[in-house]
Amino acid sequence: MSEKTKMVKVYIMGEAFMVPAASTIIMAIEYAGFQLKRGIGCREGFCGACATVYREKGDYKLKGGLGCQTVVSDEMYIAQIPFVPAEKPLYDLNELTPDPSTFMKLFPSIYRCVACNTCTKSCPQDIQVMDYIQALIRGDIKQAAELSFDCIRCGLCALRCPAEIVQYNAGTLARRLYGKYLSPKSPELEDRLQEVNDGIYDQEIDEMMTMDIKDLTKKYFAREIKIT
Ligand code: SF4
Ligand code: SF4
Repeated sequence: MSEKTKMVKVYIMGEAFMVPAASTIIMAIEYAGFQLKRGIGCREGFCGACATVYREKGDYKLKGGLGCQTVVSDEMYIAQIPFVPAEKPLYDLNELTPDPSTFMKLFPSIYRCVACNTCTKSCPQDIQVMDYIQALIRGDIKQAAELSFDCIRCGLCALRCPAEIVQYNAGTLARRLYGKYLSPKSPELEDRLQEVNDGIYDQEIDEMMTMDIKDLTKKYFAREIKIT
């Protein structure tokens, strides 16, 4: 039997199924006959919707990963996490200040961090999660924004944190504060926004909305790129 058609046994929510050995967890779940309506998104590792916990044969460790990026193994046990019901404070960004007092008020949980690094080990994006939480504790919003930049909000870090911290929501606020108040302003961006608001591109956008994908692709690759 070729490698392509080799089958392995996996347990999906405790029930055994034979699936192709080269499948990702998402492909295996669908091969087994389930239709995914939650816990699925871009299928390319960018949206963070398919957080999954699993355990491999002979391993006592409970691991987490993105279902669309993790390949199955024989005797793997799989359970999807379609949603992490983590605490999320509501706020109006216009009323916040980019300093530690904001995090003390909205995310007092970060100060419970025991620096165990479990969150970093849980992250499928290889983000230094503990480091961005520690940066927030020190009041370094810029560093927290930069370190958490690739976060896809899958929730796997918060699931494993012994201090019950919701790292990704704190990281999101850091990036919002950095973007609105702390990052260097771009005059080119201001000019472009003004042009957009003035409707300079409306006609061109209307034309593009009627183009077929082939012409649109051609136009995309023929575009002018200004490098400053
Ligand atoms: S920081 Fe947390 S929520 Fe963001 S990608 Fe990593 S594990 Fe997922
Ligand atoms: S898992 Fe929680 S307690 Fe441990 S380092 Fe990460 S944020 Fe801190």
